[in-house]
Amino acid sequence: MRKKCFISFIIISIFLLGIINVNAASKAKTLSELRKELQTLKDKKSSAEYKKTRTKNQISTAKNDIESSKKAIEKGQEQILVAEEQIKNLNLEIGVSKDKMLVLMNNYQKFEGDNVYLEYLFESTSYADFIYRYTIIKQLADYNEEQISKMQDNIVSNEELKKDLEAKEIELNNNINKLEKSLDSLGSQLDELAEETMDIQDEINSTQELINYYVKMGCGEKEDLEACVRVKGDTRFSKPLTKGTITSYYGYRINPVSGKYKFHTGTDIGGNKEGTNVYSTANGMVGKIIRKASCGGNQVYIYHTINGKQYTSGYMHLLTINVSVGDSVTSNTVIGTVGGGRQTSSYDGCSTGAHLHFMLADGWYGKTYVNWSTFVAKTMDAKKVLNLPSKNTWWYSR
Ligand SMILES: [Zn+2]
Repeated sequence: MRKKCFISFIIISIFLLGIINVNAASKAKTLSELRKELQTLKDKKSSAEYKKTRTKNQISTAKNDIESSKKAIEKGQEQILVAEEQIKNLNLEIGVSKDKMLVLMNNYQKFEGDNVYLEYLFESTSYADFIYRYTIIKQLADYNEEQISKMQDNIVSNEELKKDLEAKEIELNNNINKLEKSLDSLGSQLDELAEETMDIQDEINSTQELINYYVKMGCGEKEDLEACVRVKGDTRFSKPLTKGTITSYYGYRINPVSGKYKFHTGTDIGGNKEGTNVYSTANGMVGKIIRKASCGGNQVYIYHTINGKQYTSGYMHLLTINVSVGDSVTSNTVIGTVGGGRQTSSYDGCSTGAHLHFMLADGWYGKTYVNWSTFVAKTMDAKKVLNLPSKNTWWYSR
């Protein structure tokens, strides 16, 4: 039941304030627990941000790797073309050399054949000439053979190079495929992380709003939030006395004590004997107490949050004060009793008879501002928020 009240209050507050997103995931019972939750969320966010940066770096590394693999493939393909061209040229050269060889071999055979002497006789001018021709041809043939074998070796090494390059290309393509796959998964990882960070940020924002809301309400760090909202939050004001009649309104008037035209900071409620119970005008927290002031006597100031807006209520000329600073009060808490008459006249020179000087102001006097003059400037007519009857008319319920 208490929970239900709390939840409906929060919902009403959200509706009225229009700023709070209640964090459903929050299990915090106090402000300090809520702050811990906020810290945890912030830590979670930084670790997600760190992962995001790491993933982005991995993506750019993978992209660079793909790029350099593609460049290596291009270069390899160029090298293959060069090797192929060389093989082609070498084959052509070998063909030419083989033709030359054939010619040489034909001539050579002429020297080595049975009819060598005949050749010598008919073609050589001398034996020396014959030997000379023979030697030249032999040298040319040997050189040619050597060249052919060199070119053949060259073809083999070019073919080996081509094979290596082709194997390398396959390897590089496999690598690219692998990298592209990992790029895909890194991309979806990054999307998930971005979404996660956004979700965490939403939670951070709503937790922060909740903290602001409870702080504004005046909840203590270790105070039970449910109780705090129940006590300190309120939606309406009630009259501070069960019965009464207005003897003087808020605003400018002739002061009954000094006889001067002066600003009256509150509403005077008469018709009650000294010692009559004075109630808090709404749920709230006692923010300030002044005792035996020469003008105003015993005074209590209570902080309220009414529909999300901060107010201070003030009660002057009290005979007794029944609360202490920091006390949580409800609109049914007796905070003191009516004074201002004979029993307080020894120290309070600003009252002519038993009555309550009741004040309402914006903000929290003593907390959001401290000066009396500021408080006076922020006071308002209680009629704005309370249904007060006209002068000399009585009320009998709050
Ligand atoms: Zn007054």
